[in-house]
Amino acid sequence: MFYHLILTDECNLCCTYCRGKAFEALASGETDVAIDESLPPDFSCDSGDLCRFLEKDVDPCITFYGGEPLMRMDLVRTIMDTAPVRRFMIQTNGTLLDQLGSDYVNRMETLLVSIDGPRELTDMHRGAGTFDRVIRNIGTIIAGGYRGELIARMTVTEGTDIREAVRFLAANRYHSFGSIHWQIDADFTGDSSMRKFSRWLSTRYIPGVRDLVGDWMEIMETEGRVPRWYPFLQTTLDLLQDRPSRLRCGCGHANYTIMTDGHIAPCPVMIGMKDAYIGHIGSSDPRNLPVVEMTGSCRRCDILGFCGGRCLYADIVRPWPPEEKAVICSSVRDLRDVLASALPGIRRLIDSGKIRMEDFSHTRYNGCEIIP
Ligand code: SF4
Ligand code: SF4
Ligand code: SF4
Repeated sequence: MFYHLILTDECNLCCTYCRGKAFEALASGETDVAIDESLPPDFSCDSGDLCRFLEKDVDPCITFYGGEPLMRMDLVRTIMDTAPVRRFMIQTNGTLLDQLGSDYVNRMETLLVSIDGPRELTDMHRGAGTFDRVIRNIGTIIAGGYRGELIARMTVTEGTDIREAVRFLAANRYHSFGSIHWQIDADFTGDSSMRKFSRWLSTRYIPGVRDLVGDWMEIMETEGRVPRWYPFLQTTLDLLQDRPSRLRCGCGHANYTIMTDGHIAPCPVMIGMKDAYIGHIGSSDPRNLPVVEMTGSCRRCDILGFCGGRCLYADIVRPWPPEEKAVICSSVRDLRDVLASALPGIRRLIDSGKIRMEDFSHTRYNGCEIIP
């Protein structure tokens, strides 16, 4: 099982689509959500409870999460030293990565590092100097021997040229991102009326993704490799194998989140959403955690098997009204259509030996939400 472990609410950045938004567009959804205001800001569970809980899981994988989890790198080190866990991952903004120490960094199976694309775009959202600091730190950990999976984790907004941003990250080999994932900033807070989302999605994002699929195929054809662009990688593998998917981030069925007080939620974003909690590490058995099903319109969607439902948090909170959610869904449908039309070409490349089916393999539920 995969577990996000919330280490702290603290962060040393104030990104425009996250904390920078907090005062202008609070998460006011269609549904009333009770938030537990007494949740401790930092992880403060009994370490014995945590170890006893994890011991019952045959293959637990912990992903450190925040805020910025490296604001509490003391906890990262302690948990890596003491928890009965072999597999660790982290979702980090990358600004403190150089300080964790190679003994710990090199044990991480996967590092998801937030970066939005080129310097100007990244710094516009994440603060001046962030891009250079992250790239410098990536160089430091590579020099220190890190050889695990390094995923560039992009947040995509109306300011993003998706094709340019992905191609930039894919082409700039000096920073060593072997994998790229992106997530659209949509249906997350009650900000839909303040956005020009629909026009950007139809005129910029969807055409950009179509072009990117073409770029992806061209690299397979000319270089004989499959770029690890997660929104394409997992979905295409499932289309090739004619396999439907549950919620692709794994939340509520393969991926759970341990809050700072030990409560267990289906998703790392459901901080303090006590009505959504499904247990506590002091009393729950990881082998019997309940599966949390989607409840909204996704259940009736004809492409649910491809999409998986996109986001359980949005399904519960419903930050955007149905007509705005439908706009997002149009991009999911277009992604399905463009990948489906690429399948014959991909099968031909596999049959010819140019690429292999194994080239699409990856770790599911590693923190990539998959459906942007
Ligand atoms: S680094 Fe992450 S947690 Fe911190 S403000 Fe940015 S998006 Fe939010
Ligand atoms: S496309 Fe939209 S309605 Fe369909 S499963 Fe995905 S999120 Fe749900
Ligand atoms: S996609 Fe939604 S449910 Fe999944 S991790 Fe992200 S916020 Fe949570």
